[in-house]
Amino acid sequence: MTTETTPAAEHAAPVTETSAPATHAFEADVARLLHMMVHSVYSDKTVFLRELISNAADACEKLRYEALSAPELLGNETRTQIAITLDPDAKTLTIEDNGIGMTADDMGEALGTIARSGTKAFMDRIAASSGSEGAQLIGQFGVGFYSAFMVAEKVDVISRRAGADTASVWSSDGLGTYTIAPVDTAEAPPRGTRVVLHLLEDATSFTDRFTVERLIKDQSGHVPVPITLREKPD
Ligand code: ADP
Ligand code: MG
Repeated sequence: MTTETTPAAEHAAPVTETSAPATHAFEADVARLLHMMVHSVYSDKTVFLRELISNAADACEKLRYEALSAPELLGNETRTQIAITLDPDAKTLTIEDNGIGMTADDMGEALGTIARSGTKAFMDRIAASSGSEGAQLIGQFGVGFYSAFMVAEKVDVISRRAGADTASVWSSDGLGTYTIAPVDTAEAPPRGTRVVLHLLEDATSFTDRFTVERLIKDQSGHVPVPITLREKPD
């Protein structure tokens, strides 16, 4: 599908460990998907939470699987969990897991391309659909991580791969590029991933405890990892 000269080739290059953030272009299909997310007036924005919780739970599941052959990955933190923090003053919603985590290279691969064939199928369907059908399609396909940009003007992903002694931060406003930079391990989760959503002005209701609690119950009741919710300052 992609050739050496497309933007897709850029993020395939290894991410070098320098102190300056490296800027990368999203794969063309990601840019299209993001544009659609941001400009879709019809879509149910609440799905972002379901998608991010599902990613956090998947990451915990992957850790458990890898730990079967490498138990040292669990360390002292043998219980996997998901913590959601709401900060109405900072207008942020943060989802943190202590799952498998990502290296800088993992981030470039997972959060810059469309690896999933399902997403491509979704985009073809939505391109051919009428506006009202869009919301249903999003529910049907599960649009993944990029749905964060329906509610956030900026997303930071701080992650530390299980067993790694370095951490990285991925950051984007969803407008075509993202950066990846090393981050002090003191500012990263000991293991796993922290996704910080800097909420759009019209999405600040997602710092409301009752709103978020209800969404978690309605959308993510089946998630096999314990979820805690707290409000800052507490
Ligand atoms: P999917 O979950 O269907 O693979 P997403 O768009 O939701 O697609 O996520 C893309 C990828 O980003 C995931 O497959 C995973 O590799 C990575 N990812 C996203 N969130 C996390 C997380 N919390 N921990 C580890 N990896 C993650
Ligand atoms: Mg997902």
